[in-house]
Amino acid sequence: MQRLRATLDRIDRKGYGAYRDLSGSHDFGSFALFVDRVQRDPFAPPSLIRVRTRENPFDPTLFENPVRKIAFEDFLTRSVDREIRRVVRGNRGSGGSGRVEIQRTSQVVLPRTSMVVGPGYVEARMAVGLPARGRSVDASAARTVLLEELPEVVLGGLVPAPEGGVDVERARLHVETVEDADHLRGLLPGLGLVAFVANGAVLPRESGASDRPLGSGAVPFRSPKEYRVEVDLPNKGVVPGMGIPEGVTLVAGGGFHGKSTLLSALSWGVYDHVPGDGRELVVARGDAVKVRAEDGRSVSGVDISAMIGALPGGRTTEDFSTPNASGSTSQAANIAEAIEVGTSLLLVDEDTSATNFMIRDERMRELVRREPITPFIDLVRPLHRSLGISTVVVVGGVGDYLDVADRVILLQDYVPSDATFRSREVVKRFPPRAPLTARAVRPPRERAIVASSIDLRRGKRKRARGRGLHAVEVGREWVDVSYLEQLAEPGQTEAVARVIGGWVGADQVHEMRDLLREALASVAEKGLDSLGGYSGHPGEMSLPRTHEVAAAINRVRPLRAAPKT
Ligand code: ADP
Ligand code: MG
Repeated sequence: MQRLRATLDRIDRKGYGAYRDLSGSHDFGSFALFVDRVQRDPFAPPSLIRVRTRENPFDPTLFENPVRKIAFEDFLTRSVDREIRRVVRGNRGSGGSGRVEIQRTSQVVLPRTSMVVGPGYVEARMAVGLPARGRSVDASAARTVLLEELPEVVLGGLVPAPEGGVDVERARLHVETVEDADHLRGLLPGLGLVAFVANGAVLPRESGASDRPLGSGAVPFRSPKEYRVEVDLPNKGVVPGMGIPEGVTLVAGGGFHGKSTLLSALSWGVYDHVPGDGRELVVARGDAVKVRAEDGRSVSGVDISAMIGALPGGRTTEDFSTPNASGSTSQAANIAEAIEVGTSLLLVDEDTSATNFMIRDERMRELVRREPITPFIDLVRPLHRSLGISTVVVVGGVGDYLDVADRVILLQDYVPSDATFRSREVVKRFPPRAPLTARAVRPPRERAIVASSIDLRRGKRKRARGRGLHAVEVGREWVDVSYLEQLAEPGQTEAVARVIGGWVGADQVHEMRDLLREALASVAEKGLDSLGGYSGHPGEMSLPRTHEVAAAINRVRPLRAAPKT
């Protein structure tokens, strides 16, 4: 600390580059400060620092298994974030002067690079805008940030009460909540379920732009008695709720009655949520994929022949590529790619689907004889029978789906009821459309990816990085991932970018599946930190699912890929 103070005194009012002298480690007594990377000027991305406590003062049961450790690290990231907001005065001087940040979190709990709980220490990775007046060092402001605010943040965010500010009981609740959700997800296959929604869950969100729970007026979830299941969780004990069995489940109901909200909650159920979210015990199979139409996306060598037959001009669809997919072909590609990665549950919302992909009525069949699309309605049963893939599909307008559903959940005023029996009556009164096709579907052919088709070069540099939540920058390409509805936070996009950056360039052909398996196995083994960054400080990353990694690769426009021969 003395050395840091002396250095600051010495470089005061010097050119900004003098901050480089802060690089390295500094002893603060109860913790060490590592300055891993010093920004070049006050307007550049902030400097990267870590603080590592001298001991780990927390009860080891808070991080005694991998799930608890992830949850506790998540808790501490939020704890430091809260302290930064409370303590740090923020901008003073030019550019990002005086700002202190830790990776932003979403409503879900993920492994992140922001925090490491080790056996003998706790380490937080942060970013600091080193203060400047104009373009010269402002040592006085730097002293305030580094010698006063930072220690206070550490005490408040990383040290348990009463000495520090961390409420250990809240930490325990956090960890136990996550452990329960994770355990519950593990129970689903054995119970023959694809998803579970606990009674009392709050599904609606604050707004279309916020993933926080709706504050007032939310109708808590209550299971119809027909689907009531009780699960036994390690911390919370027995919890009742709605179990959605395998097979084809229809969510029906009038407009604005909560259908999409339920489906969306299920799609986020692949992740664990923080206490207070409302969806703590809303879980789905971890490999569930929400699929939608995405016209305009590029598709490279995907076998969509199970859904779409020969195209105009006799173009085959076993090896389908286009720089500009239509609504229906994009949705078919999204499904084929999800199956390629591996999924046991597809989530489909009429609102975001291509109509001609979902259904074709009899008059249209009569009029249009050369229709290459087998509508999804004729695929949902074979998908389950042949490939074991269940579907939850939201429909408000297309009653034909009643024919193919194993069960129908009807939402009225946000309250679900079982309408399976009534739907059978309805089907009797309005006879089914043309006889159901009982075709089997086969899985799409596996693809080989030409790694060298992705070019990381941009000018003299190579580049693969996340650009917020919605884009990955790969060389000169911006890959649009804004339709990946299960991407939770920018840290995941960044990790996806680094995974892509790690394997391309080599003049090699990989099988998509092998590629993903290797990339993710390496991250699982060596941790997110292994995805690079500056020595010590890896940058801000959160763990993505294999599905989102694959989805980003699949959207790289120059990608060359083809079914294996
Ligand atoms: P649908 O898909 O059936 O048209 P949505 O799911 O989009 O309906 O929901 C319509 C509106 O109702 C949204 O603003 C949503 O936030 C709200 N909402 C959904 N579920 C609930 C609930 N359980 N309690 C209160 N509001 C809800
Ligand atoms: Mg809707």
